[in-house]
Amino acid sequence: MTSANSNGMGRSPSIKEDGLAQLSRSSENAKRIKNVQDKFVNSQNLQKEGRALVGEGILMKVCRKKPKQRAFFLFNDILVYGQVVISGRKYSQQKIIPLNEIQISAPMDSAENPYAWLIKSPKKSFIVRANSDRERQEWLAHLERCIRYASGGNNTPNSAVAAHWVPDDKADTCMHCHTSKFSAYNRRHHCRNCGIIVCDTCSKKRFLLPHLDAKPVRVCDSCYLKLNNHDMDDSRPNQRDRTADSSDSDGDEGTSQYSPVPATFYQNVENI
Ligand SMILES: [Zn+2]
Ligand SMILES: [Zn+2]
Repeated sequence: MTSANSNGMGRSPSIKEDGLAQLSRSSENAKRIKNVQDKFVNSQNLQKEGRALVGEGILMKVCRKKPKQRAFFLFNDILVYGQVVISGRKYSQQKIIPLNEIQISAPMDSAENPYAWLIKSPKKSFIVRANSDRERQEWLAHLERCIRYASGGNNTPNSAVAAHWVPDDKADTCMHCHTSKFSAYNRRHHCRNCGIIVCDTCSKKRFLLPHLDAKPVRVCDSCYLKLNNHDMDDSRPNQRDRTADSSDSDGDEGTSQYSPVPATFYQNVENI
């Protein structure tokens, strides 16, 4: 049976889902996906029954050291991103996050990161920023739609997500004891639970955060106490107002310069 037609039910999920399912069956879609796969060095197989490439574009990812340009590809079930080796032609360090594990924040703007928002997932949470408010609105609308689609309309993700890490340049002294000054010999560490920058002395403890790792991970003394008391109940990051980012292991910057390329979406979302 075909679509439940548009009878004034503005946000009827069936209409949106039909659109994405339809897109996945088009021959242009198959070509676009093949194209993305071919441009990635060591790509996973992205071709899959029912998968649609919804949009793509360059976003700045706010990393531990500094913001970096990353190519993002939004599918109806996964978000793929990677380093830009040659703009529009070659990408590397492919990362894939299933959309049903992703949570996105409301827009968050700061002087250094305008047009930004947070992408949260169990292993990694990070801030990205678009080139304009309009572009951010598009990304957010498409992300929300695809996350809803990927979660089968069940829009209540309950998995724990990673803390976003405070960038290194935001703290010269430990954010826990406020006395230990960082240097080449006194290195910065990040609490895996709350994301703050702490000295080694304040983060000697390890705690098992199953969404992050099979082994216990470094946590600050405050989190260790809290986690032990609540035993995972209150383990979700609650740090909202910091410009921050998560573990920053997706490699060094490529050679390409940042050039604002407008995002492309292959389908319209009516209520942007
Ligand atoms: Zn300290
Ligand atoms: Zn902590």
